[in-house]
Amino acid sequence: MKIHFLGTCAGTEPMPGRKHAAIAVEAGEQIYWFDAGEGCSYTAHLMGLDLLKVGKIIISHTHMDHVGGLGNLLWNIRKITAVRRQNPFQGAVEVYIPNMESWEGLMLLLRNTEGGFRTNYPVSAVQVEEGVLFDDGVMKVTAIKNRHMAHVETDRCLSYSYLMECEGKRLVYSGDVGKYEDLDVLLNEYCDGLVIETGHFGIDAARQYTADKYIGKIFFSHNGREILNTPIAAQEKINRYFGNNAIICEDGMTVEL
Ligand SMILES: [Zn+2]
Repeated sequence: MKIHFLGTCAGTEPMPGRKHAAIAVEAGEQIYWFDAGEGCSYTAHLMGLDLLKVGKIIISHTHMDHVGGLGNLLWNIRKITAVRRQNPFQGAVEVYIPNMESWEGLMLLLRNTEGGFRTNYPVSAVQVEEGVLFDDGVMKVTAIKNRHMAHVETDRCLSYSYLMECEGKRLVYSGDVGKYEDLDVLLNEYCDGLVIETGHFGIDAARQYTADKYIGKIFFSHNGREILNTPIAAQEKINRYFGNNAIICEDGMTVEL
């Protein structure tokens, strides 16, 4: 599978060269989208990714740096197929989202755009609950609760991390976590790849947490101030700590897992 890093910045003010969190995982003929920060579909389209291969969009939580580009992603899919009719789309768009109020608000916004946002393909949403989200024969995605939004006064969990199982490999997407230990249940066995946020914790914390874990490759994304402000020193530290087993991801980067 290929991982396309569309946005690699934590939820900061605008930064040169980096937009907010989004990755696209390409497997077979499908593209699975994880988080949809600002400009994610713009970046993907200009990278040459076919937005009509996007069937499932999985959101970790509905903070703006993870959903700011969701409306544009849905709008661009419609633009490419429904408006420019030479691109037929036989599929369906299914969004997995922890907060249905955010979904309803977004759809209200979209329905008041061009053409009432009418589509000749289904667009639907599923509320994320802990457990297997789907297993479509190409990819299986499992959600686990994390404590990133534990401060919110609700009995519902609104923030999740994800395990992807695909092509015999295991890839963990941290989303934003309360503590790295939220990932324990996903990392108690070997995983081929870990996309880990450094927005709330530094490289030292990531090293300390992953030291006794069995991880093929670590991808630093949702990057925070340490990497943003001192990229050369951060890279040197990562080389020292992890050797070739970790990389700082950049917008527009594609890696094969
Ligand atoms: Zn975030």
